[in-house]
Amino acid sequence: MKEITRREFMAVSAASVMVTQAGMSAAQGSEQGKPWYATMRRCGQLNLNERDPLTLDVNAWMDYWASLKVNAILINGGGIVAFYPTKVPYQHRSEFLGTRDLFGELAAAARKRGIRIVARMDCNYAYQEALDAHPEWFERNRDGSPRPQDECPWLFKTCMFSTYFTEQMPAIYREMNARYGTDGYFTNGWPSTGSLEVCYCVACQKIYHDKTGGVPPETTDAQSPAYRKYYEVYMDRVGEVWKLWNRVAKEKNPGSVYVGNLGGGIRTVKDVKKLGEVAAWFNADHQGRSTEAPIWECSQQGRVAQSVMDGRTITNVIGSYSTSDPLWRHASKPAAEATLWMAQITASGMVPWYHRLGGAVQDNRWRETGRVFYDWLAANEADFRNRRSLANIAVLYPQSTIAFYCSNGTRERRLNGERIDPTDYLQGLYYALLEGRFVFDFVHQEKLTPEALKPYKALLIPNAAYLRDSECQAIRRYVASGGSLLATFETSLYNEWGVRREDFGLSDLFSVHVAGDLVGPVRNSYMHMDRPHPIVDVFKDTEILPGTEFRVPVSHLKPESTFLSLIPHYPAYPPEMVYPRIPKTQEPTAVFRQGSGGSGSVVYFPGDIARTGWKSGNPDLNRLIASSINWLMKGQPRPATVDGAGLLELFAWETEPGCTLHIINYTNPNTMRSFIRRFYPTGRLQVAVRVPEGKHVSAVRALRSGRSLPFKQTNGVVTAEVPSVRDYEVVALRY
Ligand SMILES: [Zn+2]
Repeated sequence: MKEITRREFMAVSAASVMVTQAGMSAAQGSEQGKPWYATMRRCGQLNLNERDPLTLDVNAWMDYWASLKVNAILINGGGIVAFYPTKVPYQHRSEFLGTRDLFGELAAAARKRGIRIVARMDCNYAYQEALDAHPEWFERNRDGSPRPQDECPWLFKTCMFSTYFTEQMPAIYREMNARYGTDGYFTNGWPSTGSLEVCYCVACQKIYHDKTGGVPPETTDAQSPAYRKYYEVYMDRVGEVWKLWNRVAKEKNPGSVYVGNLGGGIRTVKDVKKLGEVAAWFNADHQGRSTEAPIWECSQQGRVAQSVMDGRTITNVIGSYSTSDPLWRHASKPAAEATLWMAQITASGMVPWYHRLGGAVQDNRWRETGRVFYDWLAANEADFRNRRSLANIAVLYPQSTIAFYCSNGTRERRLNGERIDPTDYLQGLYYALLEGRFVFDFVHQEKLTPEALKPYKALLIPNAAYLRDSECQAIRRYVASGGSLLATFETSLYNEWGVRREDFGLSDLFSVHVAGDLVGPVRNSYMHMDRPHPIVDVFKDTEILPGTEFRVPVSHLKPESTFLSLIPHYPAYPPEMVYPRIPKTQEPTAVFRQGSGGSGSVVYFPGDIARTGWKSGNPDLNRLIASSINWLMKGQPRPATVDGAGLLELFAWETEPGCTLHIINYTNPNTMRSFIRRFYPTGRLQVAVRVPEGKHVSAVRALRSGRSLPFKQTNGVVTAEVPSVRDYEVVALRY
């Protein structure tokens, strides 16, 4: 056991301070030809309102942001409301602007403090004056009426297919380029990753006719061929506008950049893979959870963005206000909730962007929350410079299923009358992964290349019902080359738009055929453990496990691969009637296939095991999933392990100075329902981190508690004890 002396610890601390300062200056300039935003570590936003020019104290505000050591600040430029004396026709100036140039004042104050300035724009609404002069700029309903904003009906929705996006917004950017040489532009609310809304304006009718020969669709239902074409045309337009705005941003200042508004967590309808192709910088606008949501949604956002950005810059906005339902824009979010959200941002490899609405503040509690966390980030900056994830398990991000697994234009699917949230399959798997303490990444379904999958020993598929033929082929290739696979329920039963195949696209891998229509919702059905197997041997004193709410009836190609079989549902009431009518069937509810001849092992569950586990809360299903993953990963050491009680989320990164293990503590009564009020620290945790071959670790520090940890390194594994994790801990290994 190597004990770090106090002197060594001080030396490590001093080194980290020096690295921090070097990092700060690198983030201000451009290091090794990298764009400025690629080295940005902290970001802030003051979201002005129309009245702010009357009272805003520019220097006091910039002093606050400078105290957070932000590299960049977002300040409202224009669009709906201009905060500078614009001459662009139909751009509405703040009616309280007077003789001020508020954007210019804030930009100068930011630059004086060495902070980059990004103009926050809004391209989504304009005033009646613009509607009268340029009726062609605006979205229209089928009857030709414009679309007023819900709460502010004097504003009208602009259409992204119109010249408002290709002429008016560029004119505004050019005016701001000339006046301020801005470091970047960000558009609030556009393009977003949410649902598409079909517009019937003249431009849309024409573009749609030119590109598809038809008319815009009636509904946003992927079952409609017209909608599928609309979706493609829509995504192409988003890409064209993004690229145009990025070019315009660089006209005066080549270092400038355009960044759109993305996000959506695991609920994305627009194709994030396509968005990732045009985005130099991905801004995830996931500001906080609503009331009925698990705390880990922010980590999920990070994983979705990482799955398409290949290590390029990702920021996530954290709302300092109460993002609950109901919403309060000017009430501070509890410090513990905001801190745990920021912890997830940094743990998942994103850069935090702390967001405050309005310059006149009556509730000041949010200020210290941001300052304390950012101070800590700045003091440990070097250890947050990630090179790559150390995860060796991939979770397929099922974009098509999440976007289109719905009925008749709604966001939900109805399965035999039951409302289904298409993200519940992924949510259930995620919970099982957290309980199993696995270190994993998301891989987007459209990026299943051999190169992208190479670091991963297993691919886990949470009901990717909608998959392209090419994606099935990529998965088949992955298994043939030795990768292991876990898949559930309707995976590969439909193409990417939801057109049903006769059999699973991956029937050969699952070793089953579809043998009938979907069954469910049912309760009180079971999985019978037919024979011993390492996956089910973790269960003692039972020969049955809870069955799933839905299942695809299947017949087996290889009966020897069936280890769990169906006990069909029987009455749950009245108790006199509660006994199995059919004690056992030949229908598989789990198929375990050992890899052979160089190909990987496969676990397939024909039921919606992850969703049923999530919905019911019964831990047996999570345990069965975790046990399956352990079997698939047999002989593959985990990149990191943590022993000790608690619900924890783990991330492991190779960093510039070494590697890190991030541990987020979700052990809290408010994990599943907002907001976190206080923390419940863990007890002692034994951690082990596998370091890359040939690397010798010289120091281990717990960055959050600010102490060095005694450690030992044996056969490439570094072990240490973390005395306790309050909210979040980063175990940083230095070579
Ligand atoms: Zn339109």
